[in-house]
Amino acid sequence: MIIDGYKIALDESKLDEMINNQMTDVILIDKNFEGYKSLSEGDKKSLEHLVKASKIINDIALEQDHPLNRQLKKGLERASETNEHAKKALIIFNSLNGVLGLNGIDEKPVKIFENIEEYAGHNYYPTDLSADEFHNILFKMIERGEIRELKNILSARSMVRRKNDELYAIDYTEYFAKEFSEIANELELAAHYSSNKEFNDFLGWQAQALLQNNEDMDMLADKHWAIMQDTPLEFTISRENYDDQITPTIFDNEKLVNKLNELGISPTPKDMLGARVGIVNKQGTNLILEFKKQMSALAKLMPYADKYEQKIDSGDDIKQTMVDVDLASLQGDYAQCRGGMTIAQNLPNDDKLAIKTGGGRRNVYHRQVRMSGDKEREKKLLDALLAKEFHQYYDREAEHIFTIGHENGHSFGPDSSYKIALGIYQHIIEEYKADVTSIAMMKEYVKSGIISEDDLKKIYVTWIMRLLLKSKPQHIQPHRIGDLMHFNRLLRFKAIEINEDGKIKINFDKIHEVTYNGLENAIRVQLSKSPTEAKKFIDEFSTWNDLHKHIAYVLLKLGIKPYKNIRMFL
Ligand SMILES: [Zn+2]
Repeated sequence: MIIDGYKIALDESKLDEMINNQMTDVILIDKNFEGYKSLSEGDKKSLEHLVKASKIINDIALEQDHPLNRQLKKGLERASETNEHAKKALIIFNSLNGVLGLNGIDEKPVKIFENIEEYAGHNYYPTDLSADEFHNILFKMIERGEIRELKNILSARSMVRRKNDELYAIDYTEYFAKEFSEIANELELAAHYSSNKEFNDFLGWQAQALLQNNEDMDMLADKHWAIMQDTPLEFTISRENYDDQITPTIFDNEKLVNKLNELGISPTPKDMLGARVGIVNKQGTNLILEFKKQMSALAKLMPYADKYEQKIDSGDDIKQTMVDVDLASLQGDYAQCRGGMTIAQNLPNDDKLAIKTGGGRRNVYHRQVRMSGDKEREKKLLDALLAKEFHQYYDREAEHIFTIGHENGHSFGPDSSYKIALGIYQHIIEEYKADVTSIAMMKEYVKSGIISEDDLKKIYVTWIMRLLLKSKPQHIQPHRIGDLMHFNRLLRFKAIEINEDGKIKINFDKIHEVTYNGLENAIRVQLSKSPTEAKKFIDEFSTWNDLHKHIAYVLLKLGIKPYKNIRMFL
């Protein structure tokens, strides 16, 4: 089957296998959902427009991710009206939300079409631009004093293109002018109908930010978004920069970094957009707020707490809102299910102006994502890899509590200037830090009576089982590299052991100490501001040997379901 000159690389039987045996549904809410039925009529109408806006954002993310995405998606949609092969390929396209992507198992990306390439700079940069050429062009621009254009090229919100031997940048508000204006319209309509003033204010700012080439507008929209704690509806435009692998190469080039520093230019990787729409779940939100109350006390227990300024000072000043959300739509970055889906997300990230100018963060937990999963497979996994006496402690809700600790963990530690200085290693170290903060601090939640001793064991065991990897992780997967490092450290310091049957045994009384020391290491690396130190730490603990291969083999044999079918009804 050929679509617009590109042959589908996966034959029908392969696609059948992927769809029937390797795919899980993530079922979002529909009109029969209680939380939907109890919304006011205005909020229901508002939700409709927010869902429309989210779908337009998906087109933008497709364009940012790969130059062929939009064209070939349209081609697949057309062909699938009459052709089964195209229809099946479209299902996998929608799971990856792109023409290619990692599936979390294979080291190479799954490619839906033959003869398509993966690009380090995605579609943000010219596809034939190498890191060396990129750096050379930047040096020339510095020599010529083209400061304003340099800033535009190295901004998080521009698409970069060639003009002869040079590069120039197009701000997102120009490159995506048509889409941004349509989204702004939908947001204004949503604000017209919605019942909540705070939410409407945010939507107004967000709409304006889409219409103006002005980072300050994003900052204001982000600040209004981050303070929302008590609104019926949830809407987010996410901007995260994990995908771009070209901009971060600058941090490996010391001479270039120094020159840019002198000029006051801080290169930022390009943002991939995502959109999330939902209804805030009151009960789930209340549980999360119980954990929040502990944060200022926990900040004092952080390693090297006297060596940097704590962002969290006193209980009332914690600029962090948190909500548990029933999801109606996931689009763009959120729907690129390339090895998993995120179950919670704390935004804005450190590179954003809102954070740099003292704005807060908002953390949103994804109920429908965390509730989707394969119970039968979990049971088989325990039988294969965990010593029997620990099975009773495996519990999915315990993972949710770990996640709350992880997300809160991002709010502890040295500020963003320390993190960013670690260059391409910053995300690995930061995710690693958030994980060990969560685990090392769990004892404190027992002390304050929020969780029981039994819960603590469940959290430890469930976390450790979630560290097991289906394949050797790559640097583009910071969470997975972190998982490998935790596993190796726990093993080296005997918090876990492999028993004579080849199964994992857990020494509960060592977990706290080993993870707290890991946290100490991570903070030390961030305080060093040294990519070399970061690399040393990562290399030391991310070795991949026969034990890991064995675990990966067992996991694969259990049958992994890496592909997702996000079912939307609103
Ligand atoms: Zn995280």
